Amino acid sequence: MKTYDKFFYDGKWQTAHAQKYAEVFNPTTEEVIAKVIQADHADIDQAVASAKKAFPAWNALKPSERAEYVKKLLARLEARKQEVADTIIAELGASRTFVENGQVPMSIKEMSGFLEEFEQYAFEEEVDNALVLKEGYGVVACITPWNYPFNQIQRKLTPALLTGNTVVVKPASDTPLTALLYAELIEEAGLPAGVANIITGSGGDAGQYLADHEDVALVSFTGSTEVGKTLAKGAADTVKKTVLELGGKSALIYLEGGDCSVAVKAAASTVLDNQGQTCSALTRLLVPESELPKVEAELKSYYDQVVVGDPADKETRVGPMVSKNQLDTVLDYIEIGKNEGAKVLIGGEALSRKGYYVQPTVFTEVINDMRIAQEEIFGPVLVVITYQTVEEAIAIANDSIYGLAGGVVGPEEEAVSVARQLRTGNVLINGASRGPKVPFGGYKQSGIGRENGRYGLDDYVEIKAIVR
Ligand code: NAP
Ligand code: MG
Repeated sequence: MKTYDKFFYDGKWQTAHAQKYAEVFNPTTEEVIAKVIQADHADIDQAVASAKKAFPAWNALKPSERAEYVKKLLARLEARKQEVADTIIAELGASRTFVENGQVPMSIKEMSGFLEEFEQYAFEEEVDNALVLKEGYGVVACITPWNYPFNQIQRKLTPALLTGNTVVVKPASDTPLTALLYAELIEEAGLPAGVANIITGSGGDAGQYLADHEDVALVSFTGSTEVGKTLAKGAADTVKKTVLELGGKSALIYLEGGDCSVAVKAAASTVLDNQGQTCSALTRLLVPESELPKVEAELKSYYDQVVVGDPADKETRVGPMVSKNQLDTVLDYIEIGKNEGAKVLIGGEALSRKGYYVQPTVFTEVINDMRIAQEEIFGPVLVVITYQTVEEAIAIANDSIYGLAGGVVGPEEEAVSVARQLRTGNVLINGASRGPKVPFGGYKQSGIGRENGRYGLDDYVEIKAIVR
C-alpha cells in the first residue's frame, strides 16, 4: 500500500500542511490500496495562490505556445497510457476492455480534437469600432467525479489551459490515484510552474472551499445535480461563472421499423460498460407496446453473453461498482423498483462474491413516473417503458428534470425528426457514437455549458472589447 503525502502545485510536489489521510479502495478486492493526503484550507490557499501568480504570463503567451505545452502533455499521456489504464481499473473497477478501448483512447482523441479545433480558434475579431479579444478568466477550479477519472479532468484542463486560464483540480475521493498520475504527466511535460495544479481532499470541505475561493474566477464542475446546485449558489457570492455537467436519465426511443437488435445494444451497452456509471447512459428504453415481446427476447439473449467478473480479465464486461456506497445506492433502487410494481426481467440481486458487485438488471412494466424512471441510478439498471404513439414516446422522453442525452432507433428521416423534438444536449441516431469534437452537455437540470471541441473552448474564454 502506497501513501501519497504531497500535492502538486507551483510546479513541484509540495509538503502538505494538512495531517489527514483518506483511504482508497480497490472495489474488486475491497482492499485499501493507498492512503491519500486531504488538503486543508491552508493547502488550498497555496495552490490557488500559485495558479493566480502563474496566470498573467500564461494568459499572455501566444495561443500556439500554449498549444505546444498541451501537445507535450498529450505525448506524456500516450507514453504512459498503460499505467493510466491500470490505475483506472484498480480504483474504479471498470473492465480492462472498456478502459483500454474506451476511456483512455477517448482522452487521447478528445485532447487531439481540442488541439485541432484550437488551431482554427479566433482570439480576435473586429466588431463595429472595436477590437474584440478572447482571453482566459483567471484561476479555474476543476472539480471532477470518479466515473471517468482521467477524462473528466482532461475535458476541463485541456480547454482551460489552451485558452489562457490556470487551474486547480480537485478530483473525486474514490479515484485520486489517476489524478495524481495526471500530475506526474504535467510535471514531465514541463508546464510552467503554477499553470496546472492538483490537490486531493474531500468534496464537502476541500472542494467547497476551493470553489468558493475569492481568487477563483470560474468553477468547472462535473458530478451530481445536487452538488452542482450548491456550487452555483455559492458562486453567486463572488459572481463567478459556473460550468456544470450534471446528471441524466436519458431515453432511447425505439421506433417501429427500426432494428430491434441495434436498439437493445445501444441502450444496454451504456448501462453495462462502466457498470452504468455514465451520466449520458440511455437508461430508459422506450418501445412500441406491440414490440415488447421481441424486445424482451432480444434483451435476454444480449444479456446472456455478458460476463460479470474481475475487471482485469479480458473477457469481463461488467466489474464492481466503484464503492460500497454506490453499490448500496443501486441495490436500494432495485428494491424501490420492485416495490413500485415494476417487473424484474433480468438480474435484480447483489452478487455473492467479493467486491461491490450487483447483477446487471432490467425492469419492464415501468411507468415513467416511478422513481426508477425519474431518478438517476448510476448503475447497471435499465428500465423498459412501452408507448402507443410516437408523440407519446417523445412526451415520455421529455418528462424528466434532466436533458443530457438520448437516442432514437428507426428509419433515419423519422428518427432525426424525433431527435429534433427531444429537449436534450445529445441525441444518438441508430446506435451512432459521438465523435471527439462533438459538443457534449445538458439541457435543463443536466447542466450549463458544453464540453469538447470548439464549444468546449468557448466556455473558458472571457471577452473584452477595445473600442477606438
Ligand atoms: P458528486 O458527489 O457530485 O461529486 C463530484 C465531485 O464533487 C467530487 O470530486 C466530490 O468530492 C465533489 N464534491 C462533493 N460535494 C462537494 C461540495 N459540497 N463542494 C464541492 N465539491 C464537492 O458526484 P459523484 O457521486 O461523485 O458522481 C456521480 C454523479 O455525477 C452522478 O449524478 C452523475 O450523473 C454525475 N456525472 C455527470 C457527468 C456529466 O458529464 N454530466 C459525468 C459524470 C458524472 P468527493 O469525491 O470527495 O465527494
Ligand atoms: Mg460523492
